[in-house]
Amino acid sequence: PNAPYDPDNIFARILRGEIPVVKVYEDEYALAFPDIAPQARIHVLIIPRGSYICATDFGERASEAEQAGLSRAIAHVATRLGVTGSGYRVISNTGADAGQEVAHYHLHLLAGEPLGTKLI
Ligand code: 5GP
Repeated sequence: PNAPYDPDNIFARILRGEIPVVKVYEDEYALAFPDIAPQARIHVLIIPRGSYICATDFGERASEAEQAGLSRAIAHVATRLGVTGSGYRVISNTGADAGQEVAHYHLHLLAGEPLGTKLI
């Protein structure tokens, strides 16, 4: 049995404004901010505003508008960062084997250098 969503996880606190972040992008569906421990020259986290634990939870429960919104947020972030031409990588870790640390669904966007096989 999976644990329920923890409303006190760090990204939920960031969404509530309890922990300040530099907002790279935000709209009604998503918020993007720099990762605190960057694994590439550009390392931004993109999170849905809704309370979803992981990719499975988001895919199963999020509305089509929320899913489309998060997808569009990737494009907005990449455009704002100026990396649509040079390229970027989007990664999501789900669950223990992937090393997911924060139990609020998030996408890592890596860019700004040749990424090789970097997987976070
Ligand atoms: P995961 O391993 O769950 O896919 O990734 C969690 C990411 O969140 C890590 O890359 C970690 O550096 C980042 N992170 C953890 N706590 C904070 C925080 O308080 N602020 C920011 N900006 N990033 C965080």
